[in-house]
Amino acid sequence: HAKQEGGNASRAFRPEMEQALQVRVCMEAELRQALATDQLQLFYQPQVDTRGTIIGAEALIRWQHPERGMISPGDFIPLAEETGLIEQIGGWVLDTACQQLATWSRHDATSHLQLSINVSVRQFQQADFVSRVLDTIARHRAPAERLTLELTESLLLANVEGVIDKMTRLKQHGLNFSLDDFGTGYSSLAYLKRLPFNTLKIDVSFVRDVLVDANDAAIVKTIVALADSLQLKSVAEGVEMQAQREFLERLGCHYHQGYYFGRPSPIDVFEAHLATQASASATTP
Ligand code: C2E
Ligand code: MG
Ligand code: MG
Ligand code: MG
Repeated sequence: HAKQEGGNASRAFRPEMEQALQVRVCMEAELRQALATDQLQLFYQPQVDTRGTIIGAEALIRWQHPERGMISPGDFIPLAEETGLIEQIGGWVLDTACQQLATWSRHDATSHLQLSINVSVRQFQQADFVSRVLDTIARHRAPAERLTLELTESLLLANVEGVIDKMTRLKQHGLNFSLDDFGTGYSSLAYLKRLPFNTLKIDVSFVRDVLVDANDAAIVKTIVALADSLQLKSVAEGVEMQAQREFLERLGCHYHQGYYFGRPSPIDVFEAHLATQASASATTP
C-alpha cells in the first residue's frame, strides 16, 4: 500500500484519474438509463437541392438529460462506442428513423422525403447488421429506397471485403450509402472505386472557410470533381452563408446541408419548416 501511495507524481495524478473514471462509469450508467427511459431523441436537419428545395433530412441524435439538459452526440457517442452501448443506441436510431420514414411515406406532402442516419463502425460490424436493418425496415414498412446510411472512412481500415459484401446486400434492397466527413480520414481512392456509395459528403471543416482559404477551395473542388467522375452525388455539410452556397453550386455540388437552410430540430419544427416551404412555392408564380 505504502508503495502505491508513495511518489509525488502518482499522488498528483491519481485523484484526477479516479475522478475521470468515476465520471465515465457514471455516464455509462446514465446512458443505459437514457436508452431505457426515452431520453434519446432524433433531431432532423434539412438537406436541400440546388434550388433550395428540401429533399430530405439527416437524423442527428440528442440526449435530453433530466438535469444537464441537451447533450450533443460528440459528448456521448465516443463513450457509447467504447462501451458497446452504440449497438443498442444505433438500433434505436434505426428503429426511430424507419418509423418516421414510414409515417412520411403515408402522406403526399412528405412521401418524397429521404432520410439519412449515421451508422457507427461498431454497429456496422455486427455480424447480423444486414438482417437487423432489413428486419427493421420490414417491421415498419418503411421505403428502403429513401433510407441512406452514412458511414465514415474509419470503416475501411479493416475487412474491406466484408464491408463491400454488407453494402451490396443492403443496396440490393434499395438502401443508399453516403460517405460522411469525406476527406478527413484515410480512405484510399482504390477502395472508394470499389465501394458502392451513392454520395460523398464534404466535411464541414472544408466548407467553413471555403470562401477565404484557397486550400479548402481546392479540396472542395477536387471532391466534387471526384464524385462526378465516380458518378456519385456530392453533399456539402456546414453551409452557413448564401455566398458559400453559391460557390459550392458553381462547382457543381448537388446537395447542401447547413444552418443556412436549417438547424437540426425536433420533428415538429422540421415539418413546420417543410410546410412553410411548400406553401411558399405554391404561391410563387
Ligand atoms: P455528422 O454526421 O458529420 O453530422 C454533421 C454535424 O454538423 C452535426 O453535428 C450537425 O449539427 C453539424 N452541422 C450541420 N450544419 C452545420 C453548420 O452549418 N455549421 C456547423 N458548424 N455545423 C453544422 P452534431 O449533430 O453535433 O453531430 C455530430 C456527430 O455525431 C455527427 O457528425 C455524427 O458523426 C455523430 N452522430 C450524430 N447522430 C448520430 C447517430 O444517431 N448515430 C451515430 N453513430 N453517430 C451520430
Ligand atoms: Mg452524418
Ligand atoms: Mg459529417
Ligand atoms: Mg462528423
